[in-house]
Amino acid sequence: MTRYLDGWMLPALDEANREFFTSGKIVVRECRGCQTIQHPPEDLCYRCGGYEFGGREVAGTGTIYSHTVIRHPVHPKLSERLPYTVVLVSLDELPDVRITGNLLEAAPEDVRVGLAVRAVWEEIPDPETGDVLRLPQWVPA
Ligand SMILES: [Zn+2]
Repeated sequence: MTRYLDGWMLPALDEANREFFTSGKIVVRECRGCQTIQHPPEDLCYRCGGYEFGGREVAGTGTIYSHTVIRHPVHPKLSERLPYTVVLVSLDELPDVRITGNLLEAAPEDVRVGLAVRAVWEEIPDPETGDVLRLPQWVPA
């Protein structure tokens, strides 16, 4: 289900992703059956088929694995942010886990693969549920 807040698309919270999108921490799901780390969060372990997961908190630090600069808004609300950089970050503690976000506080021409970054959180109140969504974004470390 896709939800919108004042024109912004928000993640639909469920049991699998609620901690990731609301805790203000980088928490990935770890299968209790085989200890596979799984991100993005899903209900079923893709390795063993298990349904039982725990949350594993990791440091919000990593390096840029890939990036792209957005110069044309896909939504009118994004016009004021142009240009902005979307990054795929490989976590220091779990390099195979990659998390998407925007790179803040850096000019697009200064972005490069391998740049060290740390997570910050953009807080968005959700009037439908009362939750505060905390979306991970990235800044140079
Ligand atoms: Zn498993």
